[in-house]
Amino acid sequence: MKTCRNIRQSLSVFLNRIVLLWQQAFSHVYKEWHGYETEKSPIFTLEFYDSLEYPKPKSDECHFMNFHGTLCGRKQFKDSNMCFWHFRDVSKYEKDAMREYFGTECSLKEAIENEVLNKQSLRGAYLENAAIGGNFFEKGANLSRADLREANLTGAHLSYGSLNRARLERANLEYAYLSDVDLRGCVFTDAKLFNTKFRRNDFSEAKGISKENFLGWKYSIMPQYKMLETYPDQCKDVYRALTAHFQAAGALEDASWAAYKEREMHRRWFRSRINPLWHIAEDFGDAVFKQRKPGMKIILFSFIHSLTSSVQYLRLTFFKILCGYGERVWRIMVASFLVILIYAVAYSYYGILDEIGSCLYFSVMTFLTVGDANLTLKGNYQWMVASESFIGLLLMGLFLFTIARRAVGRN
Ligand SMILES: [Zn+2]
Repeated sequence: MKTCRNIRQSLSVFLNRIVLLWQQAFSHVYKEWHGYETEKSPIFTLEFYDSLEYPKPKSDECHFMNFHGTLCGRKQFKDSNMCFWHFRDVSKYEKDAMREYFGTECSLKEAIENEVLNKQSLRGAYLENAAIGGNFFEKGANLSRADLREANLTGAHLSYGSLNRARLERANLEYAYLSDVDLRGCVFTDAKLFNTKFRRNDFSEAKGISKENFLGWKYSIMPQYKMLETYPDQCKDVYRALTAHFQAAGALEDASWAAYKEREMHRRWFRSRINPLWHIAEDFGDAVFKQRKPGMKIILFSFIHSLTSSVQYLRLTFFKILCGYGERVWRIMVASFLVILIYAVAYSYYGILDEIGSCLYFSVMTFLTVGDANLTLKGNYQWMVASESFIGLLLMGLFLFTIARRAVGRN
């Protein structure tokens, strides 16, 4: 008898594992991570839970169980098997329904804040089309695997929370705060991320994210693609993470945009550090923090720091204008054209060749490092010609490198 029961138990455990695996595979295929309702899927009945080794929900509690095997346990919404958060219908946002469930008149945002205040997870919550934008006073909402399709999250403070594997298709996250938010496996298809605040985010396994998500309009007519760039040092790392993500996904144009933005943030960071007072304040604060006496050395070092920042800023600015940090092919072409033109005018001015036409021809030939033996030069200007050849060689190399990197990738 005992052996029989053991076999039955092992069989039951084995079958449960199969069911769970099937459920995960099924959800993966249909990208419906938490789209199961007791009404629709017969396996999520009390009998199903009875057969599991996991905790069983009480008949008056929410039946939502996540993949870790923990139960939601909130009270049920109306006559469904789910609580308010896991009930999958937008009719629940109605004022009367919410008053009946929560006992008081409250907005959806206040209800979420209450959950966060009580350290309750909103994992797998159904919030499709929900209007929960604006400031949250309680930060750190756990909205992992939540359904936030088409939700209005404009300006929402979701910092320190989690959106792990959340669905954000067509959601509006403009001006939202996503600092330190877990974004792994998020679905961003057609979500609006213009001027969204990011910091230390991980985009690995994120789906549907591209440059287009960051589209906004300057003066209502000029398209621009960016996140909130108030803190360049933080944005720099986020753009770098985006570059790596786009690169891994093979989206080379998007990777190029993110790489350009990363360098631009780097430049802006140096610009913010040019002012020596900034360094004096920083070094002074540092000395006080480490309980050292701030001396005159601070002022000297501040000026040295300021000088190096200026040099770096100028270097990056030059690099930006010349070739868009090695991402803009057109800028190199314009730069090449200008170099040829300037040298042609110089050759004409110093009278190396008689006509302006032959000066231009000679300039092009020199730039391409081809030269022309038939032209006889007047005067002693070899160094000028050599310098044009040198610049030409560098620019052509840069041109080929930029095209190749945009076409092949940056690995
Ligand atoms: Zn629930």
